[in-house]
Amino acid sequence: MNKKEILEKFSADPQRYYNVNLFEEQGFERRSCNVCNRFFWTLDSERVKCPDHSDDTYSFIGDPPTSKRFDYTQSWKEVESFFVKNNHTSINRYPVVCRWRDDLYFTIASIVDFQRVMGSKVVFEFPANPLVVPQTCLRFKDLENVGVTGRHFSSFCMIGQHSIPNENGYWKDECVNLDFNLLTQQFGIAKKEITFVEDVWEGGGSFGSSLEYFVRGLELGNAVFTEFQGDLSSYKTLDQRIIDMGAGLERFAWITMGTPTAYDCCFGPITQKLIQKVGIDTNSSVLVPYFTEIAKNLELYDDLAQVRKNAIKTTGLSDEQINQIITPLEGIYLIIDHIRTLIFAISDGALPSNVGGGYNLRIMLRRIVSTMGRLKLKFDLDEIIDIQIDYLKNTYPELENTREDVKEIISIETGRYDISKQRMQKIVSKLNKEPKVEDLITLYESDGVTPEYLKEMKVISEIPSTFYSKLSDLHQSKKQKDQVNLPLEGILDTELLFYGEDPREFSAKVLKSFENFVVLDKTAFYARGGGQEPDYGEINGQEIVDITKHGNIVVHEIKGEIPKEGDVVSCKVDGKRREGITKNHTSTHIINTSARSVLGSWVWQHSAFKEEDHARLDITHHSALTDEDVSSIEKAANSIIAKSIPVKIENFDRGAAEQKYGFRIYQGGVVPVKSVRIVSIGDLDIEACGGTHVANTQDIEQIKITKTKRIQDGVVRIEFVSGDSAKEFVKKKQLYSESKEKEEKLKEQEKEKRIERRQIAKERIPFIAKSLLESEQGISTIDEITIELAESGKANFCYSTSNNYDDVFHIGLGEMLCKTDPKMIYCGLFEQGDKIRVIVYAGDDISKEKSAGEIVRSISQILGGAGGGSPKFAQGGGTDKSKKEDAIKNAKSMIIE
Ligand SMILES: [Zn+2]
Ligand SMILES: [Zn+2]
Repeated sequence: MNKKEILEKFSADPQRYYNVNLFEEQGFERRSCNVCNRFFWTLDSERVKCPDHSDDTYSFIGDPPTSKRFDYTQSWKEVESFFVKNNHTSINRYPVVCRWRDDLYFTIASIVDFQRVMGSKVVFEFPANPLVVPQTCLRFKDLENVGVTGRHFSSFCMIGQHSIPNENGYWKDECVNLDFNLLTQQFGIAKKEITFVEDVWEGGGSFGSSLEYFVRGLELGNAVFTEFQGDLSSYKTLDQRIIDMGAGLERFAWITMGTPTAYDCCFGPITQKLIQKVGIDTNSSVLVPYFTEIAKNLELYDDLAQVRKNAIKTTGLSDEQINQIITPLEGIYLIIDHIRTLIFAISDGALPSNVGGGYNLRIMLRRIVSTMGRLKLKFDLDEIIDIQIDYLKNTYPELENTREDVKEIISIETGRYDISKQRMQKIVSKLNKEPKVEDLITLYESDGVTPEYLKEMKVISEIPSTFYSKLSDLHQSKKQKDQVNLPLEGILDTELLFYGEDPREFSAKVLKSFENFVVLDKTAFYARGGGQEPDYGEINGQEIVDITKHGNIVVHEIKGEIPKEGDVVSCKVDGKRREGITKNHTSTHIINTSARSVLGSWVWQHSAFKEEDHARLDITHHSALTDEDVSSIEKAANSIIAKSIPVKIENFDRGAAEQKYGFRIYQGGVVPVKSVRIVSIGDLDIEACGGTHVANTQDIEQIKITKTKRIQDGVVRIEFVSGDSAKEFVKKKQLYSESKEKEEKLKEQEKEKRIERRQIAKERIPFIAKSLLESEQGISTIDEITIELAESGKANFCYSTSNNYDDVFHIGLGEMLCKTDPKMIYCGLFEQGDKIRVIVYAGDDISKEKSAGEIVRSISQILGGAGGGSPKFAQGGGTDKSKKEDAIKNAKSMIIE
């Protein structure tokens, strides 16, 4: 079933699918476009083409069809007051980071606000009926169009008009009636200007007809009637039919203002400010025809470069006009658009990174910086953020709270990009041919080189139009959960005692047992879930090794004999383990909120793990934590414990909880059930959570952070202990630091002794040398140094293997001896740590026959190592300390024949 087939079928029966009261009352005529054959409804008897092919397409640029002018902020006020007047509830936007769906990073349409995934089904939960919402939506597929086409944005406000046809809501007739009146009455657009085009929508197993409404070729909105499920040969009406009307607020503003681009009237005063700063002549009569041409060509060509080329040609722009006006304007539009998107995303807790949704934010920031670099624009990003938030807060007052956080993140990220530019420069200098799209993706994915940078460096002239959509696809991959299939069909849900009285001992009936698994009618054993590890204990004296939850059924895995189905078994929960896990679990809530208050609003739980004697919380944060951060978080956490705050647990309807507490409750991810368990620690931390918790923060006694680490881009791991484990950790740490102190002291003493010995030895070298040189023919030993004067008179050998001498001594003595006696060979062996070192000197005469280097090589080999040097001086060594004497014997044999 594809859209074309549905449209054909529906358009074949317009009476049933498209005709509405309004069309009858006003006398709309249904026509087929004489270019593309699509059906549309109009009051204009002369209109023979659909909006895509009409001659008046985009003629509102420079000549708006409304008597009043409304910018972005004012347009929303108009839309809102119209719908409120008509019995709609105006609700606040939902976050742009889509916390309530685990298959989406960002909110992409207003209807997404109300979709909740339950298993494989999508259900709708509306906080009011009917309602209207100014939903900011993020879309990254058309990034290369942003700033160039006049109407593409990376984020836009979708006016969501939603209704369920029941005693409060309405269906098609009323919807189209309202939309028509909104345009004609509220915005003052002439009835004849409005065209409704027949279309269809399908997705997620349901489908329905839709009416797109256009004014002068600009699609302002699309009213979708989600009505059926099944396929075209057999479909039935949904139990829950829904009106999903989405309209672009930016386009409403644009059509009333008639500015060359939608960007000129949707970003507030910042656009003019930057245009003035750069000194672009926007009064020039070139803009209106140019952007009108761009808009028209966009319907004809897919390739943006082609669109731009045609528009330039048709309007006859000179190179100078392009360079002085069009190109810098495109840059300014891009920068403002991208910053607006970043303001929403960062305010709602997303961070630029190289993973998941954060990746799109990083690429936008790099586009901003690259564009400024390429066009040599010197803008103060903080100032742009300030002016934008000042403007946006008319519609979205909550953005005021995160103003400084947005600036902080953008400045950190910009700084990082500047640093990575140096690395990119190196990589780019090695490119020997113009990279293709695939190469560009590899360059970005593995080396972080953005195509904007390559454009800035003139390596490529244009960014291929498929780059961003390909990249976006690459990062859209969804998380897949492992499904384990156990034979649990027909078994009743397990009663969960740990949410009630939570006994440590209880008896229960065995509903099912197979392999090593047991299912009971009720259980006080907590099953692994939400990062909390399972309880341990015994069922009929048999040890439990794991507990998992499958739907609402708890499965216990035991070691040893399993009970029979129907048996009543006695069960014992390991209370000490549970207590440890519970303290650690509540501590994750406390650390999470402490980290957010210390670090910033962007801190969210990324994941968590709670065991009996340790736990960890991974949070979203831009950098590794400093020692100061860690101690501040730990201090904040312990002060929450000291305040003895009761931990409250309440059950709410999911929608009610979201409205009451916002989406911060989803720290642990999406909750796939209608009733949510809200755990609150005063008003400091409120989360939807199914784990076990202490009754009061003071029960935790103490929290100690043991280690932190940046585990991936944008995520920091905090490892910690609490309760007894924390006390033990502190004690151990103290003992450790005491023993460490002792060890340090001993080391220090040893060092001092060594220095002293060395000093003494140094002073004594001349005396020792003198005594050695004065010794008699034969072998004699002085102060552990042996000297042997050869009978042949050709060579003298002096050596020491004492560990009382070090390298400084041997070098000093060896040099002195060999200088005085040109036939002398000196060999010093000494241990240093786990190694044994050797130093050899040879006097002038003897070195001509017996090289110090060769002697060292030979000795080192015996010691299991290596060494070398010149004929007069060499050093080396090995590790085999037991070979010391062998080594000396070998040396002697080499010297004295
Ligand atoms: Zn057409
Ligand atoms: Zn919890």
